[in-house]
Amino acid sequence: MAFETLITGGEIVDGSGSKGRPVDVGILDGRIAAIGTLDGAESANTIDASGQVVAPGFIDMHSHSDVNLLDDPGGESKAFQGVTTEVTGNCSFSPFPAGKLGAGGLRDAMGTILRSQAEWTWSSLDGWAEATESAGVSLNLAPLVGHGAIRVAAGVNENRPPTPDELVEMRRLAAESVEQGAFGMSTGLTLAPSMYAETDEIASLAEAISPYEHAFYATHARVWAGWHVRALEEAAKIGRKGGVPVQFSHIAIGDSRIFGRGEEMVAVIDRARAEGMDMTCDMYPYTAGASGLNQSLPSWIQEGGIDAMLARLRSPTDRQRAFDDMAEGHFGGLPWTWDKMFITYVGSDANRGVVGRSLEAIAEDRGVDPREAMLALIDEESNNVGVVGHNRIESDVRFFMQYEHAMIGSDGRAISPDGWWATDKPHPRFYGCYPRILGRYVRDDGVLPLETAIYKMSGFPAKRLGLKDRGLIKEGFAADLLVFDPDTIIDHADFDEPHQLSTGVSHVYVNGQAIISDGTHTGARPGRVLRRGG
Ligand SMILES: [Zn+2]
Repeated sequence: MAFETLITGGEIVDGSGSKGRPVDVGILDGRIAAIGTLDGAESANTIDASGQVVAPGFIDMHSHSDVNLLDDPGGESKAFQGVTTEVTGNCSFSPFPAGKLGAGGLRDAMGTILRSQAEWTWSSLDGWAEATESAGVSLNLAPLVGHGAIRVAAGVNENRPPTPDELVEMRRLAAESVEQGAFGMSTGLTLAPSMYAETDEIASLAEAISPYEHAFYATHARVWAGWHVRALEEAAKIGRKGGVPVQFSHIAIGDSRIFGRGEEMVAVIDRARAEGMDMTCDMYPYTAGASGLNQSLPSWIQEGGIDAMLARLRSPTDRQRAFDDMAEGHFGGLPWTWDKMFITYVGSDANRGVVGRSLEAIAEDRGVDPREAMLALIDEESNNVGVVGHNRIESDVRFFMQYEHAMIGSDGRAISPDGWWATDKPHPRFYGCYPRILGRYVRDDGVLPLETAIYKMSGFPAKRLGLKDRGLIKEGFAADLLVFDPDTIIDHADFDEPHQLSTGVSHVYVNGQAIISDGTHTGARPGRVLRRGG
């Protein structure tokens, strides 16, 4: 057989969790055509992978790259990590279905999480997929549909349950997106408007997608003060009532009063699994989280969409009420840590100087209380302001990383270091998540065996998604793979200088085409929108 590409002399770690073995891989027509001793086989292109590991392309279980690739089609921040598929639509935010407000209205409502320069011209998953594929992108995307988008599409932006008719419409919209290929539905239960949903509303929507094979429920849960166990229990309950598998997103402990109590949280997953439910989780390897700054505002002020929130912020009485409410902390009583909250981006040039500074420092500069500094920034930036919060400890990160039913999801975006985001200071997980695990945690500290780490990055998420022909190095599977040096792979991005590509990944193939070759991005755009069941 003559191959398009032949990778020889490497150690194949196939994504199943099995240990590596020294075999060659031949690629033809976008597929893994042969695995074995292939020296002497004819090939247009032969890669000598001696001393390197060949692994299935990483499937990032938790990304927000729904629309970034339209701005930065190369997706360099992820491509150089060996990521070949981004799971999108997380935390309740997806760029479809458009529903009542139309595409532009949905875009405004999805706010900073799905911010991009791209115009939204579609109204459904199919339309978004076509726009993405025809623009051309380097990575594959595997979409979820967001519960926040479904609520907006059905006109339920307020803090109230849907009427019976609205719930019928929401169920229809959820099922329609899953029918078109969404892998499941996500919620973001500290994020408006998803957070206004009660358990039964979500269970009803989960039930609406349950007839579709592999469709699952993903949740950014109610991580409020005192909810570290209840948040998981609510997720399990929704899975049970809705009859769907559950993916608990970015599991972590962000409340210093309960550091070290991860056992209590994963016990909920273990119990659900013992009852026969398919419940899993994902995590990323940093002691900081990131989000829009408005996430920590009182929930009443966010009701009804971003314009309604800004109107309240600009009313002196409501602003005072918010200021007073914030004295009790955020998320129902988490203490503020103003010195550990750093601004990651702002929309205006006028405030560019606050990027990278803490809310404590910004408040000091302005001579105001940090609560007022926070309210003022959201007001001045019309909500276009992001924050990183250093709120976790390393031992908890390692605990969740080692948990048997945890896979890896970066919560980052695929962007370019000289693209539209270049003036921001995004969370370094955009650039470093996977090499950080392989370099720091696998090689340097022995927290995970290499084959287990790779399973958590490829075969395991592929199983959750129900992908039939990705996530493993196996004959007939799509040729999504990477070649990396296990002795040198490492992340470089940090909170001060986040736009630094990881190194140690020499080759990355997406659908058989090289997007990274000898450590250089080729500019190829072989990415596709994957569909459930495909
Ligand atoms: Zn989230």
